Amino acid sequence: MSRNAESTAFRSALEVVRGVEPRVADAIAAELADQRESLKLIASENYASPATLLAMGNWFSDKYAEGTVGRRFYAGCQNVDTVEALAAEHARELFGASHAYVQPHSGIDANLVAFWAILADRVESPALRKAQARQVNDLTEADWFALRRELGNQRMLGMSLDAGGHLTHGFRPNISGKMFDQRSYGTDPATGLIDYDRVAEAAREFKPLILVAGYSAYPRKVNFRIMREIADSVGATFMVDMAHFAGLVAGKVFTGDFDPVPHAHIVTTTTHKSLRGPRGGMVLCGPELADQVDRGCPMVLGGPLPHVMAAKAVALAEARRPGFADYAQRIVDNAQALADGLLRRGATLVTGGTDNHLVLIDVSGYGLTGRQAEQALLDSGIVTNRNSVPQDPNGAWYTSGIRIGTPALTTRGLGAAEMDATAELIHTVLSQTTPGTGPDGAPSKAKYVLDPAVAESVGKQAADLLTPFPLYPAVDLG
Ligand code: PLP
Repeated sequence: MSRNAESTAFRSALEVVRGVEPRVADAIAAELADQRESLKLIASENYASPATLLAMGNWFSDKYAEGTVGRRFYAGCQNVDTVEALAAEHARELFGASHAYVQPHSGIDANLVAFWAILADRVESPALRKAQARQVNDLTEADWFALRRELGNQRMLGMSLDAGGHLTHGFRPNISGKMFDQRSYGTDPATGLIDYDRVAEAAREFKPLILVAGYSAYPRKVNFRIMREIADSVGATFMVDMAHFAGLVAGKVFTGDFDPVPHAHIVTTTTHKSLRGPRGGMVLCGPELADQVDRGCPMVLGGPLPHVMAAKAVALAEARRPGFADYAQRIVDNAQALADGLLRRGATLVTGGTDNHLVLIDVSGYGLTGRQAEQALLDSGIVTNRNSVPQDPNGAWYTSGIRIGTPALTTRGLGAAEMDATAELIHTVLSQTTPGTGPDGAPSKAKYVLDPAVAESVGKQAADLLTPFPLYPAVDLG
């Protein structure tokens, strides 16, 4: 697409929206301006390509398409079939998976599809078998009762939240924590790393139906070969949620033992983080689970979003181009440059560094909570998010950590020199922020004091850092 075409496309779209509700058009334009100006270090965000964004804004949004390619409950889905088949084909080729299900609307949904598929495959329930053989009318009330009892209360072993696991891996605020009897494995308190012997021990004791690997805030690679051996040793199904690092798998930075696809029975992901696609989810699996996975809609999903599947097809096609591997490698190089820059300036990092796209700063070394640090950085034009650290004394709300990630800034083109400059800005803000007090003079975990002149100066330097790397350079909204 030529630069002119991108500008014309986005300008025209806004003009049409402005004709109906100008405030929405203004908010969309303001969002682009905000994103252009902020130093975005949120590890789970990125900037999708104009082609990916544009593939979403069209009449595919109007179609219902329950079912799967060629087997729909609605008529007239031939074009939806085309984009869904394309997205699945790109996903299979990109990740070397035998089956790809591209309908999930988000990462949570992809995980629910996977949980359902595993339960349906693994739980010995005569009532469930009848239901699946479409003999629903033969099921008595007692059968349904048995089915609910048998499917509920199954065991899941996943990474603990404060070690970097995700809510959807069996934690109480998520439905998975209410469906499953969950136990978690943490990390070694001395190193911050996964201790595979401890995971094996927990698996032997707990005998989970599902062993989950994957994380939102663990800054290291996971050895999926070892995790699979652990799962096999206790007869568990091994599931990997690669939502955060799918881009590193796609770009072949994570290969061999660190590529989940050959080792897991089932892999879930989001498509919008390091993979740089539209907001959405996906499930990859082998033939054994494919039929159950394809029942995702209507089992746990609403009707598929054909416009988003079209955008997934575009983004996955982009990820299959040679340049994506270079992008993925630069994400990791940048994270390491950022980690080195912070360590040289005296910051404490969980695990002492990174080998993926994210860095977790333990801000208690600066005398701050995660919440204070997050806000002080935000005041200074640096967008991050607070996160628990292992055995966090400040809990999940205030936390003691700041999670930073490089997928977005790497998309803009920033490199090692800018990462070092970013480390300097972060260190300046954190070292010059002090904890504040509440109205009664008591120490507060939320209030903080930062000289506005420091925040302003850092904000200006952050903006200067971004100037040579314009976001969506071809898009001029006039
Ligand atoms: N799984 C992991 C590991 C995640 O980090 C996230 C999101 O942060 C999700 C699942 C959920 O993704 P979504 O927000 O798209 O539902």
